[in-house]
Amino acid sequence: LLAFVGFANLPNQVHRKSVRKGFQFTIMVVGESGLGKSTLINTLFNTTLYAPKEVLAPSAERPKTVAIQSISADIEENGVRLRLTVVDTPGFGDFVNNHESWKPILDNIESRFDSYLEQENRVNRQKIVDNRVHACLYFIQPTGHSLKPIDVEFMRQLHTKVNLIPVIAKADTLTDEEILKFKQRILSDIAHHQIHIFQAPIYDNDDEETIAENEEIASKIPFAVVGSDREVRTADGRSVRGRSYPWGVIEVDNEEHCDFVKLRQMLIRTNMEELREHTNDVLYENWRSEKLINMGV
Ligand code: GDP
Ligand code: MG
Repeated sequence: LLAFVGFANLPNQVHRKSVRKGFQFTIMVVGESGLGKSTLINTLFNTTLYAPKEVLAPSAERPKTVAIQSISADIEENGVRLRLTVVDTPGFGDFVNNHESWKPILDNIESRFDSYLEQENRVNRQKIVDNRVHACLYFIQPTGHSLKPIDVEFMRQLHTKVNLIPVIAKADTLTDEEILKFKQRILSDIAHHQIHIFQAPIYDNDDEETIAENEEIASKIPFAVVGSDREVRTADGRSVRGRSYPWGVIEVDNEEHCDFVKLRQMLIRTNMEELREHTNDVLYENWRSEKLINMGV
């Protein structure tokens, strides 16, 4: 990770101080069982030089149907500390009646807002722990058709509370052409239902390189991902993380084969600051003012 992530070089000088103190970044994964969420988390953490240090206990206060678990790793780069947490939500969409299966996830996201607000209201605000969810990867089944009602419902319920990043699960099960068509269908469904997915802002004063990098990332959304926690051997004898087929190997870390590298780059390097900022300045702030209005303040 040290070699290629570069979060220590986050561009925004304003954030230098908080960066030096160390910061938290939390990613949530949501999607039906068997779509490769746990595998993708492992794939993400396996790219770190550090094994995940600590498995945090599942949140005790929410014994809902959707069990929520998180795993964290402390990563240090050029003296900058990052606590990366990935929250897994097994059980989503697995019930006979999936009506409101988004609810426990929304509750979890809002309870993290609550905990942040409570810390902000303390007299001593020196040590605020930011456990808010900064990005939510939503796994779409690789049907090649369009979004399912459960996908639309989840995104509609959550898009004002969290930065949604749709991903096509198990992209190795589709051909390149099927992926392109599927991406277009998904984007038009998302537009049709007026769902807001996270879009990195492009600033006028960005240099050409940054603009190109952002556009390249944006062009891949919804990211077609492939996860694998094992190494396989390619025809030309390389050992790579990937999945083996009779006709060849799909390489996780090869940008020609899938969008995993681009997704990781967006999350942990290029757009980490924007994801944090949008969570704080827009999503959290809207939730907070709505809550105060509801309380009659
Ligand atoms: P989860 O229920 O969403 O957490 O899914 P898992 O990560 O447990 O994966 C379910 C099954 O799908 C396992 O057998 C994985 O090996 C397999 N799997 C995971 N990721 C991929 C992928 O990208 N492509 C393919 N073809 N299979 C995958
Ligand atoms: Mg799982």
